[in-house]
Amino acid sequence: MRETTGATGEGTRAVRAGLPEPVKNEPTLPGPVFAAHFHLPGDVEGPYTYGRDENPTWTLLERAVGELEAPGQDDVQTLVFASGMAAISSVLFSQLRAGDTVVMPDDGYQALPLVHEQLRAYGIQVRTAPTGGDAQLAVLEGARLLWIETPSNPGLDVCDIRRLADAAHARGALVAVDNTLATPLGQRPLELGADFSVASGTKQLTGHGDVLLGYVSGRDAEAMAAVRRWRKLVGAIPGPMEAWLAHRSIATLQLRVERQSANALAVAEALRDWPEELGVRYPGLPGDPSHKTASQQMRRFGCVVSFTLPTRARAERFLDALRLVDDATSFGGVRSTAERRGRWGGDAVPDGFVRFSAGAEDTEDLVADVRRALRESAG
Ligand SMILES: *Cc1c(COP(=O)(O)O)cnc(C)c1O
Repeated sequence: MRETTGATGEGTRAVRAGLPEPVKNEPTLPGPVFAAHFHLPGDVEGPYTYGRDENPTWTLLERAVGELEAPGQDDVQTLVFASGMAAISSVLFSQLRAGDTVVMPDDGYQALPLVHEQLRAYGIQVRTAPTGGDAQLAVLEGARLLWIETPSNPGLDVCDIRRLADAAHARGALVAVDNTLATPLGQRPLELGADFSVASGTKQLTGHGDVLLGYVSGRDAEAMAAVRRWRKLVGAIPGPMEAWLAHRSIATLQLRVERQSANALAVAEALRDWPEELGVRYPGLPGDPSHKTASQQMRRFGCVVSFTLPTRARAERFLDALRLVDDATSFGGVRSTAERRGRWGGDAVPDGFVRFSAGAEDTEDLVADVRRALRESAG
């Protein structure tokens, strides 16, 4: 790993993250290595043998993510996956056995209820708790793993990672944090005491809406060996092209996160100041129920804002009237997106609930588009 730059600034760290030692006449970021198998005469020796186990393009990306999730901590390992769900499933199914108990959010990512169902089918007891207010504390006794998602998607509630990690560790439980919404530039769960930081790289980490990716970072060598084994067993591996695109995208992560957080705050303020009461939520908004805890553990508050229009029809007219914001799911991309979350079913949200992902447009343009669409859709 190239630890010689001595960089402490996050922008500097992001542009150099995971780069190998420079080699004359070679590219700075080596291209994707397309290989199902590697030349392997004689004894089976690593690092690269078969493409489901390891790939040099993943190695560089894993270093890059590791340098952002846990700067300067060489004992932290990172593994990349085909998607966020592959990463999440690999932690849960490699760490839990029949008879174990896991504490999970009841308000997190929309696929979690499916995960609960599958865990229960394997004889694992699933207890749930809401994200806000550290309600997990009341159900930790006897748990083997605490899973938290903070800020939660789409409700944008926040829980205190340090406090929950201390309480879980005191009871012998491991702690995993879904860090998708914050990105490693927004919060670093491992430094706050978590055992695993897990995320979908599909969202802001890669930020262009063109790659599915997931990762797991963790310090415990034994636990990470089990996660690695699970990746090998289920084959939930990213393609080399996706891994390379992701690494290329991370170079601009700090720029994107800065602009997108500023845009999210500006949109949240515009919604807060709108004459109708829109129930806006943004952890970076002073006065938001999440703001106090978020300020203690986050350095940036993310690109997602949520709010509620009075009816489904109004929300649909609003989304239709936007010109700079695509009506699409997912979040974190450089182009703003928004959607009426209730169209999926599954999230416990009102019909007019909108999840808005601020992109990297000019702030004035984006806020003007939101204001105009609010005005035009009111009619
Ligand atoms: C999108 C998302 C996931 C799932 O990620 P995929 O890359 O779509 O598999 C998990 N957790 C959160 C918080 C997400 O937003």
